[in-house]
Amino acid sequence: MENPLLDLGWLPRFDTIDAAHVEPALRQVLEEGRVELKALLAQPAPTFALLVEPMEQMQHRLMRVWSPVSHLNAVANSEALRAAYNACLPLLTEYSTEIGQNEDLNRNYRTIAGDLSAELDATQRRVLDHALRDFRLAGVGLPEDRKIRYKAIMQELATLQARFEENVLDCMNAWSKTVDSVDALAGLPAHVVERARASAQARGADGWVLTLDQPTYIAVTTHADDEALRREFYEAWQTRAAPGPQHDPRWDNTQLIEAIVRLRHEAAQLIGFDNFAALSLATKMARSVEEVLAFLGELAEHCVPVARTEFAELAAFAGQPLNAWDIAYFSERLQQLRFRIADEELRPYFPLPKVLSGLFRVAERLYGIHMRERTDIPLWHPDARYFDVLDSGAQAIGGFYLDAYARPSKRNGAWMDECMGHKRIGGTVTAPVAYLVCNFSPPIGGRPSLLTHDEVLTLFHEFGHGLHHLLTTVPYPSLAGINGVPWDAVELPSQFMENYAWSPEVLSWISAHYETGDALPDDKLRRLRGTRTFLAGLQAVRQLEFALFDFRIHSEYDAARGTRAADIIAEVRARVSVVPHPEFNRFANSFTHIFSGGYAAGYYSYKWAEVLAADVFATFEESGIFASEVARRFLGSILSRGGSRDALEAFVEFRGRKPDIRPLLRQSGIAA
Ligand code: ZN
Repeated sequence: MENPLLDLGWLPRFDTIDAAHVEPALRQVLEEGRVELKALLAQPAPTFALLVEPMEQMQHRLMRVWSPVSHLNAVANSEALRAAYNACLPLLTEYSTEIGQNEDLNRNYRTIAGDLSAELDATQRRVLDHALRDFRLAGVGLPEDRKIRYKAIMQELATLQARFEENVLDCMNAWSKTVDSVDALAGLPAHVVERARASAQARGADGWVLTLDQPTYIAVTTHADDEALRREFYEAWQTRAAPGPQHDPRWDNTQLIEAIVRLRHEAAQLIGFDNFAALSLATKMARSVEEVLAFLGELAEHCVPVARTEFAELAAFAGQPLNAWDIAYFSERLQQLRFRIADEELRPYFPLPKVLSGLFRVAERLYGIHMRERTDIPLWHPDARYFDVLDSGAQAIGGFYLDAYARPSKRNGAWMDECMGHKRIGGTVTAPVAYLVCNFSPPIGGRPSLLTHDEVLTLFHEFGHGLHHLLTTVPYPSLAGINGVPWDAVELPSQFMENYAWSPEVLSWISAHYETGDALPDDKLRRLRGTRTFLAGLQAVRQLEFALFDFRIHSEYDAARGTRAADIIAEVRARVSVVPHPEFNRFANSFTHIFSGGYAAGYYSYKWAEVLAADVFATFEESGIFASEVARRFLGSILSRGGSRDALEAFVEFRGRKPDIRPLLRQSGIAA
């Protein structure tokens, strides 16, 4: 059988890939990798060109085979594909552990980094530094018994972290609220009420059934006039996978939190770190536990007083003492009163084709690149599109797919992912290709897809990640584009791009009423821009609460006394929270970002990257947001450099100083 996944000609043959191709293709490419690795290690005198470059090629090939699979699993899911995908995950983990713990490979890399370092350039040395770091983090070099323990911890953690998330999901799926009078749903948007009616009918029940998914939770707490309903939802949400009357105790995550943090701590100590937070920082831009805590503390100092004032204003507006389940509801009302603007009202002004052409114009002005759509590229769905990215000489330097619309069997949310990484090794060049995926409402009849301004921000954000991937000049895949970029700096290019979607000039490029062609009227534009800083203090302290809890629970762990999760939450809240939290609130039990996802001892990254992005954008504002000299420096120092250099050095080279929190505070209206 000819397997299209193994055809590495140019772009993936999306029109012919089938679930049955997945596992055989992966097994083959992994097997080839093992054989090649063996041959590489049998060489008498390994050098960068003889060992490291082939390893970079191998990794690139593996990604090139696997990337279309994980992409299809996300945008064109089917039972067969999901089964094939899941069957492959353990194969990939096993392979990467084999590489990461390969003593021979580690020794050879070390020799090249030591004896031959004079022959290497800075990027090559950094490839080696990163690889040696990753060997260490995989547990290479440990005595055999510790290596076995380390591997066992990793496996147990993978299981426990997955169960943590399953408990949260099962708990949400099992919960529902039935109301028998539509009056109880007063204030909710019509589409939420319709969905509740449909849910009831699907269950063969009378009335309306509200489920505990995120859109419904947000809709109820933001819009439901009935305080009791808001409270009930708030309690159900904040006690997911926690003890309490709302959920089955078999999904209680309390003990899992203890076990996960204990195992992480043990793993960190096994490979020579004081605690898991220190291990997390080994791959980040922030240098030390103290630096992160000081950073969060400094933000808190500025944000807490502002949040207090906002909370007092909100309570005065509500004319009643505010409970935690009242915040979203009265915020929405106050915003309507102050800005008289609703998200939905702006949709007709942001048809996707207009937004795209304005977005492309921003990239043209900044970096001199052009996008040209192609219609001869195999796609996975008729709504997907492909664009070449051309440099100023009309040469294609890369490309991207855009899959913009929501549809069944497509994962929620929006993201950028790598289809092909940039590579320039041994005289051949592979141009980078990205996937940009969103979930906007599809066009209906002759009407184009219409976006809210929030969705416009999402598109700019993901396009920012895309430019990071596409404009890289780094030759080695492990450091090209977003690869090798520290987690706390990787959101810089994306958050930076969002700023442009707030600029009046850019708003005039991306808006045109889909019927009349009119640009966004001035008063709407003013009101929209006003919403940017609305209740920014309250939003910021919420993020700080999560970040401080996450970082402290991982840096202060002590085997004798356990996580002290409840105490740490109480201490953090006493310091940064202004909203009264009811005693029953157990947000940690459903904090999947840090207990099942990649944000463990890394939740601060959101704020960290926001500071970088605001500071970079402030540099542009000082000279004009399209100042070509500034854009050239940003491209040269940061955007094109991927993970090939230290993130702080790159920032300092661009800005002439270390990052400063003040531009972010100004941008969010927290400081004048
Ligand atoms: Zn992002």
